[in-house]
Order: sequence, then structure tokens, then C-alpha cells
Amino acid sequence: MTSRLFPLFADLRNRTVLVVGGGGVARRKVTALLDTGARIVVGAPALDPELAALADQERIEAITGSFADSWLDDAWLVIAATDDAGANRAIAAAAEARRIWANVVDDAELSNIHLPARVERGPLQIAISSGGGAPMLARHLREQLETQFDESLGALAELLQRSRALIRERLPDLPARRRFFDRILKGPIPALLRRGDAISAERALQANIDAAAPVRGRVALVGAGPGDPGLLTLRALRLLNEADVILHDRLVSDEVLALARRDAELIEVGKHVGGDHHATQSAIHRLLVEHATSGKRVVRLKGGDPFVFGRGGEELEALQLHGVDFEVVPGITAAVACGAYAGIPLTHRDHAQSVRFVTAHTKDADDGIDWRALAQDRQTLAFYMGVSGLERIRDRLVAHGRNANTPVALVENGTRAGQRVVVGSLAELPELARAHRVAAPAILFVGEVAALATRLHWFGTSPLQALPALARAA
Ligand code: SAH
Repeated sequence: MTSRLFPLFADLRNRTVLVVGGGGVARRKVTALLDTGARIVVGAPALDPELAALADQERIEAITGSFADSWLDDAWLVIAATDDAGANRAIAAAAEARRIWANVVDDAELSNIHLPARVERGPLQIAISSGGGAPMLARHLREQLETQFDESLGALAELLQRSRALIRERLPDLPARRRFFDRILKGPIPALLRRGDAISAERALQANIDAAAPVRGRVALVGAGPGDPGLLTLRALRLLNEADVILHDRLVSDEVLALARRDAELIEVGKHVGGDHHATQSAIHRLLVEHATSGKRVVRLKGGDPFVFGRGGEELEALQLHGVDFEVVPGITAAVACGAYAGIPLTHRDHAQSVRFVTAHTKDADDGIDWRALAQDRQTLAFYMGVSGLERIRDRLVAHGRNANTPVALVENGTRAGQRVVVGSLAELPELARAHRVAAPAILFVGEVAALATRLHWFGTSPLQALPALARAA
């Protein structure tokens, strides 16, 4: 197999190119190099008037004399264009010894780099090589190509170059981008440029980009975990860093909010006790849709996990109704986090084979909760939003057969600096909470595992127990 030349396009900006020779041949090579940004050094005993003029204008540098090895000191590329075959051979040999690419004019054998015949249209270049064997054929082909390609191709290449970053951003998918360019090249834009109407061409391109990928915001429904920022997922952190708008619940800790992008707009959409929850929820839906459709990256940040007592499902339905893209990032839910930070394993081979997440907060008294199932042994119950309904929880569980001595634990401000854990028995649950003034956010664990908090606690202060007065009364 014969070896062939490998075509390359070189970035010569601020790199030294040495041209040896001061006559017409050297001048043509220098002219071809002028717009590459190379530092052009021409060395010869004497320069022809045009080269001398370029040197006067400081567009090239001149060295006077016969070739010396030291001329190669800074060179990346050398072009030997003298009319002395011996000198050209010496230059090629010196360059080879230093691993500098050398082109010897009209001598393919001595050249390890060839200068192709070129067709240029702005940044677009077509280079033709016959491998040095038939330069006249290459030149002939070039002339044919010159007539085939319209001058406006250069403007087209420039236009696409200017929009390249935007197109990549809006059409990140490669096959989609290929289809897009296919449409552009077959569409009216090339003709507009041929007519010299660059402004219309630019507008048409922009309209095509907008139509292919309209600016669309999206909503990430993100679980913020229980409060300790160390319990955020990496994805949650990344989304907080990229968000334009963050709609967050009151439950989300300041430490987590502090990790948001500095210029993100923070909107608290917490529901207030006694407030109209329905109105608040539709206001949240409205805000989410508004911000997303205006092209913003919206994070809907919820305490714990968005799909555990978080109304995450309802918010996604509202987004879907309005055609807004979304994603969901899970968070560590309060039961899991508070269990961990209070030393309460939610399941345990000796005590509990299942765990239930229950909300104590329901709309009506006839709550639809299956108390009989909840009252069964060997399971752990985690009651969310329970602080105000403890009496009812105790009464119903006991009435349905759960032992009044079953251990309970209340975890207030779980994973946060002010975490408190109160342990006792189901019988004394409401009094326990009152005595220690347990306040929201707090989660209630019912089950044998709750008693393990006294032994396995590791975070914050030790668990509190029944007050002496209370113990006496019991
Ligand atoms: N989506 C959330 C729950 C929202 S309901 C989650 O997955 O955790 C709100 C209830 O969660 C509170 O009333 C409380 O019972 C519980 N909760 C949330 N964060 C808590 C925390 N840091 N400590 C204790 N309970 C917490």
C-alpha cells in the first residue's frame, strides 16, 4: 500500500514561520500566509520590492544574509523558496534534524509538508492535493471548483459559526441538530445570502432556531431532606446551584437555602396554620407554571421527600396540564432521617417487621384511617404532622388493641441543631408532649423500636423522658 499525505489545517497564530528566499516564489508564499496571524520571518540576501515593503510595514520580519541554522530557532514551519537547489536541500535537512515541518517549493521529495491548492469562501476552505505528484491537476481542479461555489458560501459559514454555540445549546441532541442543519441548508437562507440580504438570513436562522427549540423552562420537584444540608442529594445540590427561581416550603431549613445560587429568586410558599390551604396550593401551581413558561429554571423545594405527604403529585399534575417539563429528585423523608438521628431503627428483627408512614392530619374526624391495622403488633408507625392530634392517636390505637405500654418517641426538629427526642409509653403520649412542649416540626414513632432511642441515640442531647411529676401521676 502506498502511503498518502494526511490533510491538516494548521493554526499558525503567533507561531513563527520562516520563509527562506527573497524573490517572487517566496513572495507568493508570504502572501498566502499573511492572513493566518503567523509571525512571518523572511530570510534572504536581498528582498524583492514587495517583500521589502511588507517588512517596512512590519507585517513581516526580515533577516538579511544566507541561511543559517539559527534561523530555525523559533520556527514551527519553514518554507524553502530559494532558487538554489543545494541551499533548499540544506534547509530541509536542518529542519528535519530539529523536527520542524519543511516545505521546499517545487520539490515534493524534500518536503514533509505540502501547501495545497485552495478554494476559499470566508472561513470555509477547500484544500486540494495531488500528493505533490501532479500540482497542475490540483490547480485545474481548483479553478473548476472556484466557478462552482458561490461567494456567499463564506457568509453562510460565518453566519452558522456565529450561531454555533446557541444552536448547540438549544439542540443538544446530535441527530436533531443534523436534521436542523439539513433544513437550513436546503431552505431559503443560502439564497438570501446569495442576494446579499444578510439581515433577512440572520433573522430566518433565528426564527428556525426558535421554532426547533422554543425557550422552555422546567421545574424540578426537589426533596430538601429534613434540615441537615449534609443530607441533600448531589443532584438536589446541583439543581439549587442552577436555579433561577426557588419556591420553597417553610419546612426547608435556612442551611439548605443558603446553598442556592446567589442570584436565585427565593419565594416562600409555606402554608400557614389556619390559612386557606386550597388557595395556597393553587397559588403555588400558578407560580410554578408562570415562572416555568417564562423560560426559567424553577426548583420546587420541599422538606423531606416531595412524594411523602408533600402534595408533589398534585403539583406535577398541574405542570403536566400546562405542558411544563419536570423532573423529581427524592429527598430523605422525615421518618427515615429522624429515625437515624434519634437512634430508632425503623425495623428490627426482634421488634418490627414493617413500618408505616401515616399522616395524623386529616380533614375530618372520620378520617378513613384503618386503625385496626395500625394497632397491630410488630410494626413501627411513623406519624407525620401529629403534634396536635396525639390524644386521638393514643385513644384509637389503644381502643383497637395496641398495648398502652407500647414505647413511643417524639422527635422534634430532627437532624437540626435543636433536635429533641422525647420517649415514653403510648399511655402517657399527650401528657409527655405537653410537659416538654413539643412543637412542630415533630414526628411520632409508635412501636418497640422507639425505646431503643435511650440506648442508641448519638446526635444532639439525650432523649427526654417522663417528668417526675408525670411519672407520679401515672
Ligand atoms: N415531605 C415531608 C413531610 C411533609 S409533612 C417529608 O418527606 O419529610 C410535614 C411533617 O413532616 C411535619 O409535621 C413533621 O411531622 C415531619 N417533619 C418534617 N421535617 C421534620 C424534622 N426535621 N423533624 C421532625 N419532623 C419533621
